[in-house]
Amino acid sequence: CNTEHADVLIEAVEESLTRTGKVTNPEELVVGVDLGTAYIVLVVLDRDRQPLATEMQFAQVLKDGLVVDYVGALHIVRKLKEKLEERLGVTLDKAAIAMPSNSDESSCKTHRYVVEGAGMEVVNMLDEPTAANRVLGIQNGAVVDIGGGTTGLSIFRDGEVIYTADEATGGTHLSLVLAGNYKTSFEEAEEFKKNPANHRDVVTIVRPVIEKMGSIVRDHIQGYDVEDIYLVGGTTCLPDFEAVVEKQTGVRTHKPKNPFLVTPLGIAISA
Ligand code: ATP
Repeated sequence: CNTEHADVLIEAVEESLTRTGKVTNPEELVVGVDLGTAYIVLVVLDRDRQPLATEMQFAQVLKDGLVVDYVGALHIVRKLKEKLEERLGVTLDKAAIAMPSNSDESSCKTHRYVVEGAGMEVVNMLDEPTAANRVLGIQNGAVVDIGGGTTGLSIFRDGEVIYTADEATGGTHLSLVLAGNYKTSFEEAEEFKKNPANHRDVVTIVRPVIEKMGSIVRDHIQGYDVEDIYLVGGTTCLPDFEAVVEKQTGVRTHKPKNPFLVTPLGIAISA
């Protein structure tokens, strides 16, 4: 098992963050909308499912996967959509969305209303681990998604999700630890954490929290025959994350090139 195929797709999304140029064939464009606890990300794909443009914004309009600031979420999705339309010279009207596993009907509806309110028809809605696996393409193993607010875990057998769990530990906790350590604001700690130049210092300070995340994963996979773990979600961008999880769990752990972009891309592919 490796993540080479995923890496190629993700590289194309990375390029689409800054690519300029209008679209000559505006037909059949689709958008993946990832509403996260820390980031809202929109990825546009062309009819061949190639990434054309990506926009994102830090936003705290969701908590535990649920929209807590409907108007705020709506404004951000609308603004990101307009930026993409401006960049590409097109109108975007079709989107896919994804929900954390086990979301209830009313949260699914709220997600849908946010995207519809921003002017897009929701053509598909799926769960986040399944979206991530559209990129990873694994048959057996665990996908561990560590975002802003949560550590999510899904075990796949023969390509189907057979177990899911969510725990309230994520990148926000790492930023809070850093803010305490450096006596700075949360916002400054968040920026410091994401800067690759600081990653070695960051990992030294937050290693105990990463170990805790690894132990959460270990506890959940006990009793399941998991031979490979795949990391996704922005928090796992930190260097050595895979080594810490592998040590805590004793299970071979893989990390794709830019784990932050896996789920947003998978949502777009599903549209
Ligand atoms: P959740 O999955 O909990 O709903 P989310 O979808 O917003 O949240 P992601 O977008 O996957 O989560 O990841 C956001 C988190 O990843 C934030 O805590 C952010 O600080 C962190 N993050 C993003 N990029 C990096 C980076 N390069 N280095 C370290 N941390 C990063």
